[in-house]
Amino acid sequence: MTTTPDYLIAGGGVVGVTTALTLKQRYPDASVILMEKESACGQHASGRNSGVLHAGFYYTADSLKARFTRIGNQRMTAYCKEKGLAINECGKLVVAKNQEELETLETLKQRGEANGIDIQEITVAEAREMEPRVRTHERALFSPTTSSVNPAQIMASLEKEAVALGVEVRTGVHCQGRVHGGRVRTDDGDMTPGYFINASGLQADQIARTFGFSEKYRILPFKGLYLYEDAPQPVRMHIYPVPDLRNPFLGVHYTVTVDHKTKLGPTAIPCFWREQYGGMDGFDFNEFLGMAWRQANLVLFSNFAFKRLAIEESRKYSRRVMASMAGVIATDSRPENCRVWAKPGIRAQLVETARNALVNDFVIEGDHKSLHVLNAVSPAFTCSFPFAEHIVDEIERLRA
Ligand SMILES: Cc1cc2nc3c(=O)[nH]c(=O)nc-3n(C[C@H](O)[C@H](O)[C@H](O)COP(=O)(O)OP(=O)(O)OC[C@H]3O[C@@H](n4cnc5c(N)ncnc54)[C@H](O)[C@@H]3O)c2cc1C
Repeated sequence: MTTTPDYLIAGGGVVGVTTALTLKQRYPDASVILMEKESACGQHASGRNSGVLHAGFYYTADSLKARFTRIGNQRMTAYCKEKGLAINECGKLVVAKNQEELETLETLKQRGEANGIDIQEITVAEAREMEPRVRTHERALFSPTTSSVNPAQIMASLEKEAVALGVEVRTGVHCQGRVHGGRVRTDDGDMTPGYFINASGLQADQIARTFGFSEKYRILPFKGLYLYEDAPQPVRMHIYPVPDLRNPFLGVHYTVTVDHKTKLGPTAIPCFWREQYGGMDGFDFNEFLGMAWRQANLVLFSNFAFKRLAIEESRKYSRRVMASMAGVIATDSRPENCRVWAKPGIRAQLVETARNALVNDFVIEGDHKSLHVLNAVSPAFTCSFPFAEHIVDEIERLRA
């Protein structure tokens, strides 16, 4: 078994797998090994997200998110169609609850236009025509290119394609990071790759630090809970509130899944350890201390209202609270229609420690030996094809 591949990737989420695929497409003769600590790829954020292909109007034009979302949406849509994978091109409405929110709606429209996105301002009557349950103040934004896919199905297809191109996927292998002599330690033995790529999501900052990167950053995981709604009149399209642009989360919204089910959520509840999916699952005492410290700092010193966010989000463990928040953006939102929680996902959200601020954009750090993908938060699933190309371009640049 080789221990000296040309490229070694840690993490079999969408970022790791599309990067492996891109490397093999660009350099067919290169050996690429992808190690994944779980028994299969896509078990964390990439298989537990909302499955929304975003359009790209939330992000300022200077961001990587703006650069990759529009094209990522087009490429993932084309990929689903070419491979016969499920897609629901349902579209999305963004709604305002009062006069003040109309200003943010305008900001989103301007950002969308700057990013080359089809985003349309519509009246209340037009919005109701599209989605009879919608509630909005004076107007709404309509995004025709926002859609839904099945992330698990896409992950399975991407992994199959990567393997067919010659990527060696080693599941059940945990990467511990760099050790003395520049080797990469895994629980399957040490490896000495030509180049190392860290796409390990929730663990990315830890692994990056063993290479001397992510010095300014730490991950603070945020849990996204979802509630299924089983209503007599299901919504037809995604409905999102105007977000608070000071934080990276989009607020409780209605998502229509690829198979026309309705989900409310996701929440953004700060976690006390990385894989805190439920109960004491994945508990790690050292992580608990680190996360508690980080949250205390954010409560005391953050440049946005972290304390308010944490309290407000934690209330969403209640179905009644979730349904009442959803009731602001749609009619007939009732807790009795929302009884079943869906599989939660956890965001690998980066905090810039000196500023006590949540980082909005994707972050990449690296040198001629390794590259580290930090803050691959939403919409990295949508962005994955162009993002992977950017990662491989960066590797070329750093090695030149
Ligand atoms: C609740 C939620 C909703 C979201 N909704 C959307 C959406 O609608 N649209 C969208 O575009 N994006 C969405 N996202 C964002 C999207 O899911 C992520 O940006 C994307 O999946 C990140 O991919 P990744 O490969 O970086 O991370 P992951 O999918 O988490 O993959 C990292 C992988 O690394 C593995 N790993 C970790 N540590 C090690 C180690 N030490 N050794 C080996 N392997 C390791 C993990 O097991 C995991 O498989 C959402 C995310 C969440 C959490």
